[in-house]
Formats: sequence, structure tokens, C-alpha cells
Amino acid sequence: MQRPTLLILFTSLSLSLFSQNISKNPIMETVDNQIKKAKEIYIDLHQSPELSLMEFKTAKKMAAKLAELGFEVTTNIGGNGVVGVFKNGKGKTILLRTDMDALPIKENTGLDFSSRIITKDFEGKVAPAMHACGHDMHMTTWLGTLQALISLKKEWQGTIVAIAQPAEEVSGGSNAMIADGLFKRFPKPDYALAYHVSAELPSGTIGYYPGAIFAGVNSVDIQVFGQGGHGAMPHTTIDPVVLASRIVLDIQTIVSREINPVHPAVVTVGSIHGGTKHNIIPDQVDLQLTVRFFSDETYNKILEALQRITKGIAISSGLPKEKWPIVKTSNQFTPPVVNNAELVSKAIQPMKKLLGDNNVIQVEPLTVGEDFGKYGRTEENIPIALFWLGGVNKTKYQDHIENGTVLPGLHNAAFFPDFEPSYKTGVSAMTSAMIQLFNEK
Ligand SMILES: [Zn+2]
Ligand SMILES: [Zn+2]
Repeated sequence: MQRPTLLILFTSLSLSLFSQNISKNPIMETVDNQIKKAKEIYIDLHQSPELSLMEFKTAKKMAAKLAELGFEVTTNIGGNGVVGVFKNGKGKTILLRTDMDALPIKENTGLDFSSRIITKDFEGKVAPAMHACGHDMHMTTWLGTLQALISLKKEWQGTIVAIAQPAEEVSGGSNAMIADGLFKRFPKPDYALAYHVSAELPSGTIGYYPGAIFAGVNSVDIQVFGQGGHGAMPHTTIDPVVLASRIVLDIQTIVSREINPVHPAVVTVGSIHGGTKHNIIPDQVDLQLTVRFFSDETYNKILEALQRITKGIAISSGLPKEKWPIVKTSNQFTPPVVNNAELVSKAIQPMKKLLGDNNVIQVEPLTVGEDFGKYGRTEENIPIALFWLGGVNKTKYQDHIENGTVLPGLHNAAFFPDFEPSYKTGVSAMTSAMIQLFNEK
């Protein structure tokens, strides 16, 4: 995920974020006092990653920490989900979310506290595990923010709903928690907030976007049928390899000719399989696609076009109706993460005051998916905002800008955030934003 045009913006960042005058701020002082303990928590989480839907021990740890902080804790919400409620007088209710799951990747960071875990995934397959998406950073920052808010509870009034979500990487966790009564059994949030650590932004910074920051994602399978036969006698067949090839080319026009150019979308054919041998025309070819979009309208247009184009190609080849292609969407639909612009604008004001204008940066949306968007799509209509938490070590970042060294991205075996400065920035910025939001009239 290299985007040099964006990165140039940060070349002039101040490298002394936590200068003396800033550290006198009570939020910063609280965060400074936490750092040693927080590092221990982070190292423990980093060394004991658990895969999606298998976050049993991690969930227990989160529940225990919440109880220690004085939260009313409920476990097993939507699987391994944990919900903590802390009431501090009359005021707004704010949900703060962390995710908990790791990825089946063999860690190659060289850290002395690297994960050596080999475990089983939810299907029973043996796999390595690593926090390559930084969810260990999310949990530590989340706990730190909750702790800071409680230390500073004289500064605000309201209710914290702290949630530790399972299964983000398989995009089922948020739905499962919602379906299990997240907004019915617990106080209904006025706002929902979250971070994702960034492998592109330097530590000391926060990235925001007042709209759809992450794309919606779905997988689509297309079965292309034909009438197989001898490769030497193609005239006696309807060749699905040729039909599938036409489909791959024709669907390129969905984004280029059917979707409004100012509405970004992606249609990628990532897999094409069919046939067994040089001289046999097969009966079937299978295509696997990923589609990305920033609005439901675009998504629906893409699906409609996929149906229409594949059907059209089948008809033109003379295939009977029962052999028209089957276009199937997966049940792992992830909607776009649509940040509420007003909430973003309220939250970044205290962040900017604390960190400096240059360190709270508007970023471009990305076409990756994150299941946080689902919290904003229920009948409760809760305004949500997800922020990027800069995670790249500043020296490495400078080297990247000056010499073009490659930074390992999220989901890369070599990715790890620069813990201390990222933690301090993340906790202090989120704490300041939440205090401001609790106190608004
Ligand atoms: Zn991820
Ligand atoms: Zn993630």
C-alpha cells in the first residue's frame, strides 16, 4: 500500500510531538504514567495471538482488564465478544471498539517478543498466528484510553460502552455482536469510535476522513457453463473457456463505462479455473472476483451488471437457459466504513489541540475492508468514526520518504507498529476526543 503522493505531505512533520509544554497536559501525564504497564500488556498480546473466532484467551484477558478498571462486564456476546459498561453520571453514551483477532501468518519481524504460535484455525487447520494487522496495538490502546478516562472521570459525565470484538478478519464479528443484542441489551451509544493502526502514517499522527474511509467488500463466484467436447472439434461444443475469457474482458467495462467516474469501485477477477488437459474442451469454468465500492448504490450497480453481462454472453453463444452462468455473492458482505462527517469534525478538534494541526491529517479513503462499518448501519442509526493511528517508526518513515525504502504493510509478516509513540498518541488523542464528546451540550 504505497502511495507516495500522500506520503510527501508528512515530510515536514515535527518530530518532537511530546515536547515539554504538551506533556504538562493532564491527559498526557496520565498516558505517560501508563506506558510501562501498557508495554507489558502489548508484549503479552503480541506473543499470544489467536485467530478469528478462536479468541478465547484474548477475550478473557480483555474481560479481566475491564473488570479491574471497574466496568460491568458481559462476555460471549456474538461468540467471543466482550462488552464493558462504565457509568459516570448523566451524559452521552460512547462506544469504543477494539478488535482482537490475529492472522494466519508466520511472523518475520525480528522482534525479540515475536509470536511463535502455531495453532488451529476455526476449521481445525493448523496455522501460524501473528498480529500482522495490529489488533494487539488496538487492544492496548483501547485499554489505555479506558484507563485514562477513568483516571480523569472528574472531567466528564456519561457512559462508556467498551467492546472487544472477535472475528474482524473474517468480517463476521461486528454482525455477530449486533445480532446478539449489542444495541438492545446495553446502553445505546450516541457515537461509536475506533482506531486502525496505520502502516503508512508515522507514529505521532492520526489520520481521518469525513466520509467513507474504507470500501465495502464482497466476493463473487461466477460459474460459467458450456458444452464440452474434443479440442479438435470446437464446432461441436460451446467452449466455456472462451465464454469465461469474454466475461473477464467485458466486465472491465463495468467500472470504466457504467459507474460514475467520481464514485470509486473495483472489480477484480482474482482466480480463473477450468479444464484438465490440452485437447479437452471442459463443461465449466469458475471465476472468483472481489468487488469494492463506497456506496450501496455502486454495489448494486456492479451486481446488476455482472448478471446482465454474463447472461448476455451466454445468450449470444447459444447456450440454453439452464446453462446460463450462475453469479453468486458470498455471505461475507462487508459494507463500507462510512464515517459521520460531523462526528469526525467534532473529534478532531481536541486531537488537533493536543497533537498539533500538522499531526492530525486528512487521508484518502482506501479500498480495503473493515467490518466496523456495520455498527453504523443498524436501525439505531449510530454515527460512527474510525481513525487511522500512525504506527510507522519515524526514522524508518524518513528513510522511506528520502530513500524509498519499502515499509511493510498491514498483513505483512514483517509489520509491527512503533509501540511507545503510537500508544501515547492513540490514547491521548482518543481520550481527548471522548472527553470533548461526553461534555458536549
Ligand atoms: Zn486485517
Ligand atoms: Zn485490522
